[in-house]
Amino acid sequence: MTRKILIVEDTPAMARVQKHIALKAGYEVDVAKSLAQTKELISNNNYFCAVVDFILPDAPNGEAVPCTVKADIPTIVMTGNIDKKTRDTVEKYPIIDYIIKENKQAYQYLEKQLQRLPRNENVKVLVVDDSKSTRRYICSLLVRHKYQIFEAQDGHEALEKLEKSPDISVIITDNEMPKMNGDELCSEIRRLYSNDEKAIIGISGSDSIGLSSLFLKNGANDYLHKPFNNEEFYCRLSQNVDMLEQIATIKHQANTDYLTNLPNRRYFFQEAEKSLKQIKHVKVDGALAMLDIDHFKSINDTYGHDVGDEVLKRLSICFSKYFTKHLVARLGGEEFAVYFLDIDKQEALKRLEGFRYFVETNSQEFSASKIKFTISIGFASGPVYHIDELLKQADLKLYDAKESGRNKVVS
Ligand code: GH3
Ligand code: MG
Ligand code: MG
Ligand code: MG
Repeated sequence: MTRKILIVEDTPAMARVQKHIALKAGYEVDVAKSLAQTKELISNNNYFCAVVDFILPDAPNGEAVPCTVKADIPTIVMTGNIDKKTRDTVEKYPIIDYIIKENKQAYQYLEKQLQRLPRNENVKVLVVDDSKSTRRYICSLLVRHKYQIFEAQDGHEALEKLEKSPDISVIITDNEMPKMNGDELCSEIRRLYSNDEKAIIGISGSDSIGLSSLFLKNGANDYLHKPFNNEEFYCRLSQNVDMLEQIATIKHQANTDYLTNLPNRRYFFQEAEKSLKQIKHVKVDGALAMLDIDHFKSINDTYGHDVGDEVLKRLSICFSKYFTKHLVARLGGEEFAVYFLDIDKQEALKRLEGFRYFVETNSQEFSASKIKFTISIGFASGPVYHIDELLKQADLKLYDAKESGRNKVVS
């Protein structure tokens, strides 16, 4: 989905820079040079957000700001300076943020904010507070930045909501609540969920000296004292969401094969081993197949390594589509694996034979050079509860498949 942004800026050079930043962040861009043009564009379009210059030829006192805000367009204000009068005007309106143009980091900061807004639509935040008015206030701040919101009025309800919606990633919690205090809720959340998965921000109006450290020691990532400044609230929240996002990226990279984007050997071993451990006691068998391209070396030798890479990538896409319900991975080189959980052996073999046949008959589509190739598959199943052992057995069968002529499934 493309999102539309309105850039209001009368200086052409600045408008160009902002437009470039917005395009880079994936937006479709409209530029208005005046208040009059802004009004016209707003009445004819639906904007996801707006970047608004504070001073325009026909709006010398920030009159364009209420114009976008009243049209319910999340607004970032760009100002030349931030004297008392400008700040008061800016603070009067529920804007997303203001950026001082002269600041060296201004455009980097703008880029970051424009990237965050669409991302926030997928970030789920749980607000825990026994005071309905405080909850409502915090939610209004979150809505402005497009976060998805959940509410709970005490610790017990918060834990229930977390169980029901495991993808809630940020919890903002008050301290003084009936049944369970915020710091107790923190430590209970930390017993259940790691710091990699969820960020907690504690909030309290109490002046008790040790409260912030109590929150932090019980696993909170951050703490805000009520009443807090909105800018500070947004900064701390964004930083925590950024951190979770970075951890998720690092985790994904560590578990993914760089060339094919399939899960890698490390992830495959970890997940299959976990699954085998679980099924050990329930009389269900795991099964595993190893797939290897036949005479792949000669593809590289004949057409070059780049073409070999292309074949691996295209084969990987088909492979993961063919086995969507099962765990697939690139183990390394031209070797792939699929782990089946709780599947009838004959059923698994039928699917594998189907894939072998698919490759035999479609492999020429995997490269511009129309290279035809085949794959061999070794299959193992049974009451084996360690991935190393299961893999060893499948590897032996793969060896048999190669020895007996290739392009076949051996079980
Ligand atoms: P067999 O039928 O016995 O499996 O023969 P083969 O040629 O497929 O097997 P062999 O193990 O002799 O060669 C595998 C080749 O795969 C050698 C290696 O250069 C190539 N290879 C491994 N990783 C990559 C890669 O990421 N990209 C490319 N293009 N080639 C790779
Ligand atoms: Mg201007
Ligand atoms: Mg091979
Ligand atoms: Mg090989």
